[in-house]
Amino acid sequence: MKEELQEIFTRGRDEEWRVDLRQSVKPTVRTSIPRVRMPELPPDFRITNSREVCEGLSVEQAVLEATRCLDCVNPGCVKGCPVHNDIPGFIKNIERRDFREASRVLRRTTVLPAVCGRVCPQEKQCEAGCTYLKMGKSAVSIGALERFTADLNRTIDRMVHDSMADDEAVHPLYPIKVAVVGSGPSGLAFAGDMARRGYKVTVFEALSQFGGVLKYGIPEFCLPSKIVDREINRLRDMGVNFIKDCLIGRTLSYGDLEKLGYKGIYIATGAGKPRYMDIPGENLPGVMTANEYLMRLNLLEPSVFGANGVALTGKRVAVIGGGNTAIDAARCAVRTGAEETYIVYRRSMDEMPARREEIRHAREEGIRFMTLHNPVRYLPDSKGFLHAMRLEKMELGEPDESGRRSPVPIPGEFVEVPVDIVVVSIGYYPNPPISIPDMEIGKGGKVEVDSETLRSTKAAVYAGGDIVRGPATVILAMGDGRKAADSMAKAFENAFSRISLDY
Ligand code: FAD
Ligand code: SF4
Repeated sequence: MKEELQEIFTRGRDEEWRVDLRQSVKPTVRTSIPRVRMPELPPDFRITNSREVCEGLSVEQAVLEATRCLDCVNPGCVKGCPVHNDIPGFIKNIERRDFREASRVLRRTTVLPAVCGRVCPQEKQCEAGCTYLKMGKSAVSIGALERFTADLNRTIDRMVHDSMADDEAVHPLYPIKVAVVGSGPSGLAFAGDMARRGYKVTVFEALSQFGGVLKYGIPEFCLPSKIVDREINRLRDMGVNFIKDCLIGRTLSYGDLEKLGYKGIYIATGAGKPRYMDIPGENLPGVMTANEYLMRLNLLEPSVFGANGVALTGKRVAVIGGGNTAIDAARCAVRTGAEETYIVYRRSMDEMPARREEIRHAREEGIRFMTLHNPVRYLPDSKGFLHAMRLEKMELGEPDESGRRSPVPIPGEFVEVPVDIVVVSIGYYPNPPISIPDMEIGKGGKVEVDSETLRSTKAAVYAGGDIVRGPATVILAMGDGRKAADSMAKAFENAFSRISLDY
């Protein structure tokens, strides 16, 4: 963790109110409170619509959950958070019911708390570092508290007709224009930080809506579009300019951006190019990629399922893969009328990369998991449409480079399963790179950057998020955006100081 952050956290922990709050409830009382469970829509009802499944904590539930937090001297949760949110700092503000301050603490390190509170894999990050786990108890529900803080403050803002928190008033300092290519979480985090520092920021987005995967990938029932729109409006309030339907590299070239006076560029174009297995039958009608399926659902009509040719009424649907995208696609299939939905995954449940909460929701919604199976061929009916899939049975071998036990085929063991639709979700490659002179593109189309500064091989061009890492997570993409903003701003500010010294 950066030293200055550590310093801020320590200072906060020693404040008088926080010392008093810690002492006001004995640790044994705190640890005896069971983890509060967030209310959820019942499975039978939620599969009939696209309403958000998790309903959020009430004020009393949030304060009770915040009381569980021990305000640790050496908080493992902060270390586990890729952007090092001051977790005890915001949680203790919830406990003392200063929700505004809780939001301020969070917004020091994240521009998308309402999003991260909903979609981050907390069980692998902050909550995995929580002291409660060492006691054999459930971690503090950090994600639910983050979401609570962001949602409550948005409601308060709306009530007072002031969408911008006091501490976010932006004072333009520099007449310097910077361009962001791509409006996913990485681009948005970069834009927010640069605007806060006083730069003139414009975000260029190829699609007709802003938000990247937050909008066209993650479905409405996990992350409502209006939540993403509000975060974007917050950035607009901070002075960020957004331009849609503009594919950089085609609508405008890198040279055009230079001519328009942009002095720095952050490339955050993501990884949306689907991978295929290259097996027979993959191009049959009835086989599609998760990207294609989710994009049609989310971008054409976010709130109405079953429209736009994506209704799967009465169909047997198999989704291939075990990541968040696969689970999202399967849960969409259930909501668009599929009669039977399977997840086909080549390893076991333990290796599945999707978030645990998503897996639980999928099970509750009737999705069947065919683990340790891998498709080898899709079979057509007499008219040439997909009719069945042939799966090879697998067992687990030695761990591979990902650290997970590798899937190994069991010789001669196959099974044929009738199916009408297959949605392939086995991973993505970086989106096609923008052609920029002297900018190096590495293996698999990833932009090559310096890992400390995220600067590319071309001066003043930085990159981060999935275009650099390959498919990853929202919080990592956001963390890159913040890191690149810090590096770019420092580079500009160094240049200013040199100019003033020369002068
Ligand atoms: P993206 O979000 O992909 O945004 C890139 C943007 O750049 C897009 O809007 C694209 O249209 C635009 N663009 C591309 N090329 C150009 C160009 N030349 N000019 C202008 N614009 C361009 N992560 C989690 O942490 N939790 C989850 O629950 C989760 N669920 C997921 C579900 C799905 C269905 C998918 C696909 C991913 C999920 N992820 C999840 C992963 C996460 O969403 C990504 O890691 C993250 O969005 C990457 O952010 P990014 O900003 O790098 O790119
Ligand atoms: Fe609170 Fe757990 Fe973090 Fe300790 S590790 S400060 S108990 S959230």
